[in-house]
Amino acid sequence: NSLKRVTLLGSTGSIGTQALDVIRAHPTRFQVTALSAHANADLLIRQALEFRPAAVVIGDEKKRATVQAALSGQATEVLAGAKALEEVASRPDTDIVLTAMVGYAGLLPTVRAIQAGKTIALANKETLVVAGQLITQLVKKYGVGLYPVDSEHSAIFQCLVGEERNPIEKIILTASGGPFRGRSAEQLASVTKAQALKHPNWDMGAKITIDSASLMNKGLEVIEAKWLFGLRNDQIDVVVHPQSIIHSLVQFHDGSLKAQLGLPDMKLPIQYALGYPERLPSEFPRFSFLDYPQLTFEQPDRATFRNLPLAFEAMSQGGNAPCVLNAANEIAVAAFLRDEIGFLQMPDLVENCLSKVSYLADPSLDDYVQTDHETRRVAQELVGAL
Ligand code: NDP
Ligand code: MG
Repeated sequence: NSLKRVTLLGSTGSIGTQALDVIRAHPTRFQVTALSAHANADLLIRQALEFRPAAVVIGDEKKRATVQAALSGQATEVLAGAKALEEVASRPDTDIVLTAMVGYAGLLPTVRAIQAGKTIALANKETLVVAGQLITQLVKKYGVGLYPVDSEHSAIFQCLVGEERNPIEKIILTASGGPFRGRSAEQLASVTKAQALKHPNWDMGAKITIDSASLMNKGLEVIEAKWLFGLRNDQIDVVVHPQSIIHSLVQFHDGSLKAQLGLPDMKLPIQYALGYPERLPSEFPRFSFLDYPQLTFEQPDRATFRNLPLAFEAMSQGGNAPCVLNAANEIAVAAFLRDEIGFLQMPDLVENCLSKVSYLADPSLDDYVQTDHETRRVAQELVGAL
């Protein structure tokens, strides 16, 4: 029942603010040692005044002075820039690093945190997509725990408790299908950013909301699951379940299926990852079958939502292919959010980058950094040419 000291990277985001709600509700269990934001200095300052961490990091160096001025007289050290994330993630004054920043930016701080022996509560799925093999090797080498925050993976993780000796036949990841479930390619060609940003069940950051609409999110989660649970590619299935009540399932070699259910609320998986192996009490709203008389299931439309098969293909290729997939997708989503490309040009861009960027079968950390860099350059050129 000791106090866990938490470094929360990406504290101003959707996961970050919900993680602070969880921490606020359990003041004797968790203490914040560091917080970080990319550009939202105002919220970072308010969070620092409430939680009094030892350090904060503001990604945007231009905002360092603003944060410093607002926190002068506080015991909180103010750092800035991407390198500072790696530094706070590996400090001796922390036990758990919750990676709630978005995108590739999660990779290097997570590597440093593992090397410093920290427990990782992993929300940043891109880390495992980009460098799953390297991260899982490091986790083993340094003997740290890496616990998923993503709701599907938390569901599987919860189903596996007590099953350590029992072979998994397969896992089934559930997908809501997003706001465009059932649409044809013709209809998708003209959807707007505003429509894509309206997720039916979850309230999340912009990047993952677009990924959910394009099914890239499920593709990233397939790759994330492979590394988290040590699965072969043919052991991972996806089923569309529009109500988002069953968060995912595991099938064991006797054929038995276990599922985890609940209302769509990220606070539960966040709290489970922070509290693991304990379940902490909560006042989150409770699920009732009377509110959900029908739970339904269907096949994902892989011909229309091409990101899903593209992710499976990148996973089969292995090496740096998932890193290429991720970087191309980050550029594609950013371009879609700036109204520079259409919805269906996102998978086009990803597919093009997968064929253009050189394949590396066994990348080092430096190779991943290079691949990410190179893919962004290629993807940006392709966006410019459209
Ligand atoms: P948000 O966009 O809401 O928040 C992102 C956070 O990261 C903010 O604190 C932001 O700072 C910070 N940030 C943005 N860019 C960078 C950067 N280049 N370097 C460092 N920090 C940066 O994202 P979400 O909370 O939705 O998602 C965070 C991660 O969790 C993603 O990897 C996502 O896939 C995953 N996830 C999210 C779920 C959800 O329900 N939201 C569910 C499952 C997984 P600022 O506010 O200053 O811009
Ligand atoms: Mg998820």
